Amino acid sequence: MGVLTAVVNVLSPDEETAGDDSFGYRCVDCDAEFRRPKRQMTRVRCPDCGSPDVRSAG
Ligand SMILES: [Zn+2]
Repeated sequence: MGVLTAVVNVLSPDEETAGDDSFGYRCVDCDAEFRRPKRQMTRVRCPDCGSPDVRSAG
C-alpha cells in the first residue's frame, strides 16, 4: 500500500462506509433519517436528538 492511498483513506472515512455496507435508520422521537455502517448496528443513537429509540429503515 502506497503512502498516498493511506492518506486518502484517512481523509474520507465516511465515503468508505456510506455505500452498500451501511444501514438506514429512522428516529422514533424526531423522525430524522440517517445511516450507519452495518458493523455499528448496536447502540445506534439519533444524531439530531441523541435518542436511542431508532428503527431500521433499510
Ligand atoms: Zn431523533
